[in-house]
Amino acid sequence: MISNRKYAPLSKVAATLSRLCLVFTVFAITISSRPAFAQQPINPGPPPFGGPRVAEFLVPPGSLGQLIALAQPGRIMYDIRQINIFGGTHSPFFRFIRAHEYAHLRRRHFVLSPQDNFDNELEADCDAAELFGWNSPEVQAAAHAYRQRLPPQNMPGSPGSAARIANLRDCGR
Ligand SMILES: [Zn+2]
Repeated sequence: MISNRKYAPLSKVAATLSRLCLVFTVFAITISSRPAFAQQPINPGPPPFGGPRVAEFLVPPGSLGQLIALAQPGRIMYDIRQINIFGGTHSPFFRFIRAHEYAHLRRRHFVLSPQDNFDNELEADCDAAELFGWNSPEVQAAAHAYRQRLPPQNMPGSPGSAARIANLRDCGR
């Protein structure tokens, strides 16, 4: 015969175990819902075109979707993995993409139809190419990245590598 009493300690153990499990579950959920790291403020120096600085952050991989960087009023975010692929925050590519994003900000490129976006991308590239020049490491790194990452032909709302590189060359002369 099994008495209730004999079982009492066991159910106490079970209760304790299930409490522990709950604690671990909550802990695991907390960890997994947190990005690999929070967004990390960076200070890459004075703004490329002068004027006021905006807040700049490295953000966890994938948080900008497919984008390498994104400018919003008052801030620029860079996908840390994408930036690292192209040499990190001290690389010529980073200086280019930073100038490109600052160009979006100073031109107030925020309200976007696909056609606006197409034009804005070329305009921001053009500003950065004018700043650095076609033969600079910055613009050459951008041309290399566009060749690697984009199809040559234009897409709806987004210029392809051929148009972007031709534009860099024209603007950087
Ligand atoms: Zn852009």
